[in-house]
Amino acid sequence: MGFDKFGRKSFTAITKTAKFVDLLGEGKIEGTVCTKCGAKYFPPRSDCSACLSKEMEWFAMPTKGTLETFTTAYYAPFGFEADPPYTMGVVDFNDGLKLFARLSKAIPIADIAVGMNVSIQPLKYDDGQISFEIIKA
Ligand SMILES: [Zn+2]
Repeated sequence: MGFDKFGRKSFTAITKTAKFVDLLGEGKIEGTVCTKCGAKYFPPRSDCSACLSKEMEWFAMPTKGTLETFTTAYYAPFGFEADPPYTMGVVDFNDGLKLFARLSKAIPIADIAVGMNVSIQPLKYDDGQISFEIIKA
């Protein structure tokens, strides 16, 4: 299995980190950690770019972070035409981990601010595709 169930449009059919999508389907948002040097990755990687080890394990992403930056898209590329306006942001978990994702549409755009306390949660679209999103903490 690949990433065919992930996101609004999936461009990666086969990957060594396909378990990410299975975990997401179970409600778990996980990254990978290198068992040799401890480097953490999100999105998950199957090989460590720090020490080149292939010895990786899964770990649960933190649930509390702050919004480091964001932007709102009022125009979307092919395949996402029905989605705007939507806001994307970067969450800083204060331990070297950062995550890029869309913010939940339940958060009014006017309420979004740098530094706000946020969390992440799995997301299921109406068509059965799955992803994750940033929510207010
Ligand atoms: Zn490593």
